[in-house]
Amino acid sequence: MASHIVGYPRMGPKRELKFALESFWDKKSSAEDLQKVSADLRSSIWKQMADAGIKYIPSNTFAYYDQVLDTTAMLGAVPPRYGWNGGEIGFDVYFSMARGNASVPAMEMTKWFDTNYHYIVPELGPDVKFSYASHKAITEYKEAKALGIDTVPVLVGPVSYLLLSKPAKGVEKNFSLLSLLGKVLPIYKEVVSELKAAGASWIQFDEPTLVMDLDSHKLQAFTEAYTELQSCLYGVNVVVETYFADVPAEAYKVLTSLKGVTGFGFDLVRGSQTLDLIKGGFPTGKYLFAGVVDGRNIWANDLAGSLSILHALEGIVGKDKLVVSTSCSLLHTAVDLVNETKLDKEIKSWLAFAAQKVVEVNALAKALVGQKDEGLFSANAAAQAIRKSSPRVTNEAVQKAAAALRGSDHRRATTVSARLDAQQKKLNLPVLPTTTIGSFPQTIELRRVRREYKAKKISEEEYVKAIKEEINKVVKLQEELDIDVLVHGEPERNDMVEYFGEQLSGFAFTVNGWVQSYGSRCVKPPIIYGDVSRPNPMTVFWSTTAQSMTARPMKGMLTGPVTILNWSFVRNDQPRFETCYQIALAIKDEVEDLEKAGINVIQIDEAALREGLPLRKSEQSFYLDWAVHSFRITNCGVVDTTQIHTHMCYSHFNDIIHSIIDMDADVITIENSRSDEKLLSVFREGVKYGAGIGPGVYDIHSPRIPSTEEIADRITKMLAVLETNILWVNPDCGLKTRKYTEVKPALLNMVAAAKLLRTQL
Ligand code: GLN
Ligand code: ZN
Repeated sequence: MASHIVGYPRMGPKRELKFALESFWDKKSSAEDLQKVSADLRSSIWKQMADAGIKYIPSNTFAYYDQVLDTTAMLGAVPPRYGWNGGEIGFDVYFSMARGNASVPAMEMTKWFDTNYHYIVPELGPDVKFSYASHKAITEYKEAKALGIDTVPVLVGPVSYLLLSKPAKGVEKNFSLLSLLGKVLPIYKEVVSELKAAGASWIQFDEPTLVMDLDSHKLQAFTEAYTELQSCLYGVNVVVETYFADVPAEAYKVLTSLKGVTGFGFDLVRGSQTLDLIKGGFPTGKYLFAGVVDGRNIWANDLAGSLSILHALEGIVGKDKLVVSTSCSLLHTAVDLVNETKLDKEIKSWLAFAAQKVVEVNALAKALVGQKDEGLFSANAAAQAIRKSSPRVTNEAVQKAAAALRGSDHRRATTVSARLDAQQKKLNLPVLPTTTIGSFPQTIELRRVRREYKAKKISEEEYVKAIKEEINKVVKLQEELDIDVLVHGEPERNDMVEYFGEQLSGFAFTVNGWVQSYGSRCVKPPIIYGDVSRPNPMTVFWSTTAQSMTARPMKGMLTGPVTILNWSFVRNDQPRFETCYQIALAIKDEVEDLEKAGINVIQIDEAALREGLPLRKSEQSFYLDWAVHSFRITNCGVVDTTQIHTHMCYSHFNDIIHSIIDMDADVITIENSRSDEKLLSVFREGVKYGAGIGPGVYDIHSPRIPSTEEIADRITKMLAVLETNILWVNPDCGLKTRKYTEVKPALLNMVAAAKLLRTQL
């Protein structure tokens, strides 16, 4: 009976690692304290998997910050600015790379494929001297062994490691990262030899880049790497793990022909076509690690469905060569459902977090060898059936309305230039109008008010009074600063998705459903379990209250459907676009109510639109089509004089600029200041943008206060490529994580810069 887990969350069921890390960074606890908390977490995870009966238990999937950074440490690929002098890499150098220190900034962080996890990007060049500088994989293997648990050490594979790197500063952009393969493989060999000597019988290499669109040159690198490793892999079993999508046919051929490899792991949840490839041919005598339990979601597995897939696979690879596994590391799901004491019982019965998924994997493996737990399977089938027919999931009216949207187009009736004219007559804004993205600093006091209201410690009256006062403060401040289009500051919102989810039907919330985003940071995505509708207006009261405090235009602030979708755990019983259309209709109702209530400027944030872009090119245009369509649905019904803004975070949108234009917003504010003006280069190259646009003029992620000159300089650069009458002046993103002592002077300088340039036009 063979069961396997690709990887497991490190944070702990109650974010124990987060608190230990942050207390260590704040110098409130020692390195030993941090090591102790971490060792306890590891041992409890290993024991839990061993107790559940898992055969292939991963080790080295724990990380103090990030598994790619761990690999950088293993290879001794520390950028020179961190002043490392050789020897085993300790916390000092490791956390400096992750977070920067007083004198050097951190290494870059970027999204791990299409997940919300972020890894530290290795910086490599021809001069890097690789050396074996972190023995963590061996230490962890031995640590588990000392507890009586034989584990499968997990390494980020050498080819994926290089493909996920970037050329270091000063290195030619076209430097081939893969040319370093010959230099990293000797370190991998040392690691493998040590693991073998320590008693490891299996090693897992994660090569998730195999699911991307790789050219033949890159695919060739896998063949070269594993051929080179082959002699040292002798005497140990090796599984090469892929995840997050289908393995393309070409890559499948290369993968399954790799030398020295005994098993191959596939994501069979996202990779439905991989199944056909396997059916079309799988190397005899090799192990198939079948990822049938979803590591990216929180839904209980359809055990009967999985079992029938597994039976079919058994027929292909043979009974003794099939291993039941997760679709990817469980890092991307919540930790343990047991801690969800407040969740509705019935909804809970439809869910499985990491700890429950371990049990599912094992139950499937047992069923394959004739030890089916009938009780578990029938309870699972019953829960699945109830979920399918539950009235709390299905809302016929919503289903119908969403279905009617498909295939049709939704656009505002007039062109953006005609609309901008009509809006200008009404709003009468100066050139280079100034605005902000929505949130203002969230003070401790403000968080306390919200918390106490939620806990019913203060009355609704007291709460409304406190929030109104806060809004008034923010409005007055913006008037003093002489900002043109105001915001209310979003003091009533804890989170831009949760706030809406809580008021929409079809959403559930967890207490401890945290998922690591980067380092010690976690997010707690809402769960969309049913058809989405909006029973009542969600923002109208606060927006009209704010508008009543000023004669200047007040922006109504909404989160767009694509962002709500991408930052939630989404139902798996209907396509994503279906759910997105439903949310779009709910937001449309809100837009129309805001308009009726006299709000003339409405911002619909699509901060996460770029994030949802599928990994494979062949799937991208379909996604962009329905995502952009969903956005347009929300505001296609407003009159010309209502100005629709949108806002997007994340700096890589050059490849989707045409979709952004197709959103047909009147004004877009967009993160820009950290991307070396990459955004502007699109316009320089001739892309026409007719709507209003506000590329952020300063970085809000840093406490640094930009000077007037610096901002004016930025705006001047923008004016060189964008028409004067469409340019807006605003920061990169919301201000909620900043302090007032930073926000006030920064905005003061921003407005001064806009005014300075107006006099020069
Ligand atoms: N309106 C939101 C805010 O200002 C937007 C946040 C975001 O883009 N992530 O906080
Ligand atoms: Zn943003």
